[in-house]
Amino acid sequence: THFGLKLSMSKRNGKKVHNVFETVAEKYDVMNDAMSLGIHRIWKDIFMQRLAPTHGTKLLDVAGGTGDISFRYINYLKNLGPAPEGRPSSVTVCDINQAMLDVGRARAEKQGYTGPGAGSSCGVHVSWACGDAEALPAPSDSCTAYTIAFGIRNCTHVDKVLEEAYRVLSPGGRFMCLEFSHLPNDALQWAYDRYSFQVIPVLGQLIAGQWKPYQYLVESIRQFPNQEKFKSMIEDAGFRQVTYENLTFGVCAIHSGFKI
Ligand code: SAM
Repeated sequence: THFGLKLSMSKRNGKKVHNVFETVAEKYDVMNDAMSLGIHRIWKDIFMQRLAPTHGTKLLDVAGGTGDISFRYINYLKNLGPAPEGRPSSVTVCDINQAMLDVGRARAEKQGYTGPGAGSSCGVHVSWACGDAEALPAPSDSCTAYTIAFGIRNCTHVDKVLEEAYRVLSPGGRFMCLEFSHLPNDALQWAYDRYSFQVIPVLGQLIAGQWKPYQYLVESIRQFPNQEKFKSMIEDAGFRQVTYENLTFGVCAIHSGFKI
């Protein structure tokens, strides 16, 4: 039953999450399109518009997976025109799973974001780091923007992730999170639950040949704190001017905060 599933899923740990993404890395991008009917692309576009990076931004994209956020960041800067002398931008894609980073790196080369061996794209320096959001492989005060898209929900200790985000950001730096969230209206939530529990695992089985990881996905969305609760967790980590914006009625939310 759904309840039985909930109990077993709540015992998840870091290792299990790691294995889930290892198995799905290859099919990951296809599944995102199938499950969200392509809407995840729009959510990610909006996320980048809200971040509105400028030349000189040093972004750490945590749980960056196959690079969706980082590629949007590079495109955004490219559209601003050439960077002025002395204001280089950079992005580090950090993910716990090397398989996801490998897919991302291959995509980056194929789509012309990085040449083989070259770590630079349109003046944006790109690097890839295998590491845990709960213990980031980055020095304190080292980035001006931190993004985490559809990643924090999978982490075992969300408070530790937020603490680390605060540590690596320089004063004035911005934290931005895109994550599945909760619908404010019972009728909408009911319809959404039917879709999640009955359609998503079936798509997982059909497209990726896996049922369980997609059951896990739906469960982890249910268990993640709602918009207000997550906002106060971000504030507890020390961030100021914390706000959120619902996308598609709250199917997703963008949370933002500053290290001041
Ligand atoms: N940000 C990308 C996007 O929006 O397409 C990828 C999101 S994907 C749903 C979640 C990613 O989180 C996976 O690549 C997974 O390996 C990574 N992940 C899970 N736990 C993590 C952790 N503790 N630290 C860093 N990355 C983690």
